[in-house]
Amino acid sequence: MAEIKKKGRKSRSAGRFGTRYGTKNRKLVADIEEKTNADYACSKCGAIKVKRVGTGIWQCAKCKATFAGGSYIPQTSAHLTVLRAVQGERVAIMPASESVPAAETKPAGEARKPEE
Ligand SMILES: [Zn+2]
Repeated sequence: MAEIKKKGRKSRSAGRFGTRYGTKNRKLVADIEEKTNADYACSKCGAIKVKRVGTGIWQCAKCKATFAGGSYIPQTSAHLTVLRAVQGERVAIMPASESVPAAETKPAGEARKPEE
């Protein structure tokens, strides 16, 4: 028992609050601050230098690109859902334009039938 155990740092970044605000609230703040201050890649230049400027505002320290995002994380789960929807449409459109005669005539005919 010569080795002194380091006391658990439960509060992490919220340790600056001391004993105030309650354990749960300090844990919530620490969780959010870990996500906010984590390293994020810039979507324009790829540099891992994205920092939070304000609520929902993020900026790349390298290329100075400023963009909107989540309050505490640059890309929320809703953002990913929208991206998937947009990219899914692009993926669906691209093969149709490449193979023009077969792909465009059949879906158009199928789409019109239920409307009429
Ligand atoms: Zn950048």
